[in-house]
Amino acid sequence: MSRVAYVNGRYLPHAEAGVHVEDRGLQFADGVYEVIAIEGGRPIDLGGHMTRLERSLRELRMTMPMPPRAMRLVMREVVRRNAVRIGILYLQVTRGTYRRDHPFPPATVAPTLVMTARSGVRPTSAMVENGIGVVTVPDQRWARRDIKSVSLLPNVMAKQQAKDAGAYEAWQVDRDGFVTEGTSTNAWIVTKDGTLVTRPLNHDILAGITRDSVLTLAAQAGLTVEQRPFTVEEAKAAREAFISSTTAAALPVVRIDDASIANGAPGSITRQLWDLYEAHIARAGAEDWIGS
Ligand code: PMP
Repeated sequence: MSRVAYVNGRYLPHAEAGVHVEDRGLQFADGVYEVIAIEGGRPIDLGGHMTRLERSLRELRMTMPMPPRAMRLVMREVVRRNAVRIGILYLQVTRGTYRRDHPFPPATVAPTLVMTARSGVRPTSAMVENGIGVVTVPDQRWARRDIKSVSLLPNVMAKQQAKDAGAYEAWQVDRDGFVTEGTSTNAWIVTKDGTLVTRPLNHDILAGITRDSVLTLAAQAGLTVEQRPFTVEEAKAAREAFISSTTAAALPVVRIDDASIANGAPGSITRQLWDLYEAHIARAGAEDWIGS
């Protein structure tokens, strides 16, 4: 099955799909994106992703390229044409194509809407069973990390640094020594008394859709949750640690820099949350494309 991409109203062979050289996404990283998990050909937490997309656009004074319902139909079609059962849908909106100049183009310039879908993209069973390592790096991003902007250069540099060190993710650290988040994941620890800790939402981090689901699942399971910043030192001494994201679910962290977390094996609360999240996916997998 050959891959198909959606570009501004057209379904194109993946290899031939492209945008103009003066697309503002290419020139200025002037755009936003979403990544949605697909399970059984259906979206997970689509409502949350749509709400976040609309918010990211609004914060950058951009508009939805089409009504949400129409966009959902295109998303479904992209997933269908790529025959994705388990995988991801990628969606990007930029401020359109115009002669390169920093101020916004005229309002008559249409935004660019691009979508791709692909199969796979799940943690390997070895990652789930054995856990992953993270390295810590200074957070070098701009001050509006709550906007899901395609401007990801600091994230790219940090993720490569993690890879070079044999780790899976980099935890970015603010000037006061507190962990903000991973390059594409939210960061969590479990304290010695079993309390889940993750950074509260404000402009410092992205409001992860998975973070939100894990918070709900944890509360339902009767776990204690504190939304507060934690330092690298606290994380290294924690009982457990994990990362959450659309593609990583709730993946155990067993090493932070050179420190082993607990005994270097995934912890029981992380495992419990993984199982709860799997059940959530199985339930959400029954979700339809055209919903609220
Ligand atoms: N933080 C950042 C910086 C991210 O890029 C992502 C992935 N979109 C996340 C957190 C996790 O968000 P989600 O659970 O919505 O995938």
